[in-house]
Amino acid sequence: MRSIRLLVVVAATVLIGIVSCAPRTVWLPRANGVWYNSSGKLVHWNRNRFPLVIALDSSISFVDFLHMNIAMEHWNTQVGADVFVFDAERPADIYFEKTDLPDVNEEVQLQGLASLQEFDGEVINCRIRLDVATSVEDATVVLVHELGHCLGLTHDSWPGSVMFPHAAESGRQILQDDLEFVRWQRVGILNQK
Ligand SMILES: [Zn+2]
Repeated sequence: MRSIRLLVVVAATVLIGIVSCAPRTVWLPRANGVWYNSSGKLVHWNRNRFPLVIALDSSISFVDFLHMNIAMEHWNTQVGADVFVFDAERPADIYFEKTDLPDVNEEVQLQGLASLQEFDGEVINCRIRLDVATSVEDATVVLVHELGHCLGLTHDSWPGSVMFPHAAESGRQILQDDLEFVRWQRVGILNQK
């Protein structure tokens, strides 16, 4: 029996914003900015799992819930389809909890963390942890960033990207390639519309 590999992604603050989109009919996942597991397989969700259900841990306050709701809607709007939902009737794909995350060092504080479990390239689940010290001003943008990790995105090197890892230089946009990757995962459902 093969073991399930655990990918751990370190998070950072980012800003939400709007990017113009020009959908393409043919697109292949790029090599940069997405996960490949140790067997070289692209890490992504099975499209039958969409929309991904987010479950709230008992540590989540109403305000945290509101921040997550805004972050979810940002992705749903940018992608142009329901990527994330709250649905108590369905099993959770993503677990959201608030906890005291360890600091990287005295100057760098971890504000969020996303952990993906995948098997043979398919994501099994994702866990998002929001640090208790994250400010109300930063919470939504941290969650947009962490949801990006849950979608299989890694960090972008462009400071304007929502997936840029450092808060001080982060920007407002979900890069076109990142959007296309998410749409590629969602394409079966998109085609039904
Ligand atoms: Zn990150």
